[in-house]
This record gives sequence, C-alpha cells and structure tokens, in this order.
Amino acid sequence: MKLLLVNKGGKGSGHHGHVGRRGEVGGSIPGKGTNAPKEKVLSSEITPYGHTWRSLNNLSKDTKFYIIDKGKLSKGKLPQAATMRTEYVRLVKSFPKLPASDISEVHLQPENENKGEKFAEGVTGLTIPMFGVINIHASDDAPDSGDYVLGRKGKKGQTGVVDPSLLGAFRHEIGHMVAYSKKQAFTKFKGIVTKLGRKNLGKTISTYGSAQGADELFAEAFSAFTHNNYSGDLPREVDNFFRRMFR
Ligand SMILES: [Zn+2]
Repeated sequence: MKLLLVNKGGKGSGHHGHVGRRGEVGGSIPGKGTNAPKEKVLSSEITPYGHTWRSLNNLSKDTKFYIIDKGKLSKGKLPQAATMRTEYVRLVKSFPKLPASDISEVHLQPENENKGEKFAEGVTGLTIPMFGVINIHASDDAPDSGDYVLGRKGKKGQTGVVDPSLLGAFRHEIGHMVAYSKKQAFTKFKGIVTKLGRKNLGKTISTYGSAQGADELFAEAFSAFTHNNYSGDLPREVDNFFRRMFR
C-alpha cells in the first residue's frame, strides 16, 4: 500500500509529502564494524521538505524506509536506518502474523525532543496509525540496541521504558501499529490489563506503560516480547496472549 502523505498540520507537523524528483545515488551504507549490512542506497527523492533518502532494498514489499533530513544527511543516519530495517526484517520473519502490510513507511529523522514519546536522551518516537507511518527521531549517537528490562525505573528526565534504545523505541512504535491493526486482540489485551491491574503492571511490564494506560502497556509488552533476547518473563497471561497472537 502506497500512501500519499499530506502536510495536514502545517510546518513541522511531521507529515511529509513524497512528491518531487527522484535521483540516483550510488554508494554503500557507511559501516559500523563488521556487522554493518552491505547494501546500496539506490535513490533519494527531493521533496519540499528537503532530501528524503530512500534506503533500498526493502525486505518487506510493503514497508518503505526513509531517512528524512532537511539539511545535509548526517553520517549516522544510514547505518541507523539499516539497523532498523534489519530489526524489522527479523520481526517479520519471526512473527509471520505481524500486520506488516499495515505499516507503509518508517521515517528516521534527526533528533527532535519535542516530537512524540521520549524513550531516552536523543530518542523519540511517534506513530500515525491511520497513515501507517512510524516516525523515529534519533541523535546520531543514540544507542542502537540494549537489553530489555521489565519494570525499569525511569532515570531523571527519562521515561521508564523496557528498552530505551533506538530499536526498543522502534519496536514500541510497531506495537502501537499492531494494536491499531488488531483491534480485537487489543480489546482482549485491555481485559488482561483490567484483570491484572494497571498499577501492578508497572513492576512486571513497564512503569511508563502503567502510568499511561493499556495502549502504552501493549506497546511496551510488545517491545519486550519481540526483543531478540526475550526470555518469556512477561506476566504469564500477557506472555500467553502474545504467543497466541503471533504463533
Ligand atoms: Zn507509546
């Protein structure tokens, strides 16, 4: 599904229209050590908002990854986008029932503390479910990945999320899309939250989720459940819920 995004909210609203010329850009993604994916950046589009870099090839037919940067593309953004795409592919392969076709575009943008949910210093996320768009804002030095910690306490000025890294934020935002796409399942999840008690889930899932409600608990639990080191330690009913949902 390809969407034309319109700039509804005026300047800086985070909606970007993908109109403009398309140019060919060669070259490899700058690597980060030996694990760096070897891929080519095939094209970039020039939009009214600046360069929209399109990092191909898309491992999911339906989801396009863009780096949206109004100025000069910063050094860290290509490897970050590649890392996110690799994570996304892992999720799509590991969880075949993930509603990937409902996620049209993933946007990686420079740090912007004023946009969306704050996960850590330099990492914010925002999902626009009805457009199928996930926005991640990150500084170049934001940690790519980290362990998940259930019930993590937020540090001063930070959010108590299970995984505040770039990929943790990304999985959290994907969780919001999943909840939006799978409405019946989300209703079931809300029932589990009511049964177990939202407050109690602050310790066993996420302090941020517990403070914010079932939407955020879902996204947090999803981020933990889909972590590549997930060890099955979410509350049993939540763990069973996700297992039934995806397997
Ligand atoms: Zn959230």
